[in-house]
Amino acid sequence: MQIEGTVRIRNKKTRSIERFHPWVFSGAIKSIDREMEEGAFVKVIDEDDRLLGHGFFSPEASIAVRLTHFGDDQPTTDSWLERLRSAYQLRERLGLTADDQTNCYRLIHGEGDRLPGLIIDHYDGALVIQAHAWGMWRLLDTIKDGLLEIYGDSCKAIYQKSADTLPNGKEEGIENGYLHGEGEASHVVLENGIKMHVDWVLGQKTGFFLDQRENRALVGKLSKGRRVLNTFSYTGGFSLYSLQNDAEYVHSLDASGKALNWGDENVVLNGFDPAKHKSIQADAVQYLKNLEHSYDLIILDPPAFAKHQKARHKAVQGYKRINRLAMEQIEPGGLLFTFSCSQAVDKQLFTNTVIAAAIEAKRKVRILHQLHQPADHPINAFHPEGEYLKGLVLEVK
Ligand code: SAH
Repeated sequence: MQIEGTVRIRNKKTRSIERFHPWVFSGAIKSIDREMEEGAFVKVIDEDDRLLGHGFFSPEASIAVRLTHFGDDQPTTDSWLERLRSAYQLRERLGLTADDQTNCYRLIHGEGDRLPGLIIDHYDGALVIQAHAWGMWRLLDTIKDGLLEIYGDSCKAIYQKSADTLPNGKEEGIENGYLHGEGEASHVVLENGIKMHVDWVLGQKTGFFLDQRENRALVGKLSKGRRVLNTFSYTGGFSLYSLQNDAEYVHSLDASGKALNWGDENVVLNGFDPAKHKSIQADAVQYLKNLEHSYDLIILDPPAFAKHQKARHKAVQGYKRINRLAMEQIEPGGLLFTFSCSQAVDKQLFTNTVIAAAIEAKRKVRILHQLHQPADHPINAFHPEGEYLKGLVLEVK
């Protein structure tokens, strides 16, 4: 890996790097030794020329350097391959790579796998790559070689989908496409024995939201005999678990007609009774204001309301609103599964917001479960920002 320049950090700002936090904010930089492009690989030193590490430089961004190697750890090609291999070994140890009921999982979760700005999801032999940083984009060939080495013949396809995730990706002419095995992979995967059609080309993110796997299983366990409203349902993930576990009826609500159609197909694919399931295309807030049916299990899994710290206040208001609306209308004794995937809203703030909603709704509420992201979305202990998904299961009297 060619080192293209040197970034000097103010001595007063080196503490977080010494604690292995991978982000360097632009205000911490004293100087750079030359003009560099987005994603250039740099050496990071302090004012006394002490080597702090190496990483990707983004001249325009507030996270100016994403550190990938600390101290004198050298950024060799093999160091990247070793990280890919070690990520795979973790999934292997978690029992995810040889499970006849589940053949989809997250292989690379950014900082949690020491690969900042990189997401790779595995769907039964198809690997879908999203680079969120230009530095990672530059490593694409190495990443592809690593994936082919790890998976061998079981790698049926590699699809690169970074046009929307790289800063100004589209403007810079980035297009999504296959790097390997176009048309080879099946688009039907298994999650806890349930079949899901995953369209990584036309679907959202990498095609599916793998982070809710364990929480969906819990919804299934608690669904028997319940009347279920799954809001922000996407392709019906939670709904399928409820149908499998004898819910009385299940309504999937989403703003996207395309996602709902895929959800309807998933119901048929699994042989569940379509008469027990209905898809509703609507805005979740509008629908929750005036429910047309009775529900005693409601799932709220909205997209991230706060994409950054500045949007936090508005996001909190949004979470409070949907939670209050759901609590006001859920049947007595109902279960509310409520989630936030906003990194900027931490666990405590989310819990406080939900409690505030319960007070406004004038309902008695108990917290039964506190939910989070699964182990294939690991959190680097030195980068607590990696904890993004939190959820609560509430009993609403
Ligand atoms: N629960 C899903 C993932 C949800 S992703 C799963 O288990 O797979 C968030 C979803 O919210 C997306 O499908 C998006 O289309 C939908 N969405 C976004 N804004 C919405 C709105 N205002 N009303 C209803 N759905 C919305």
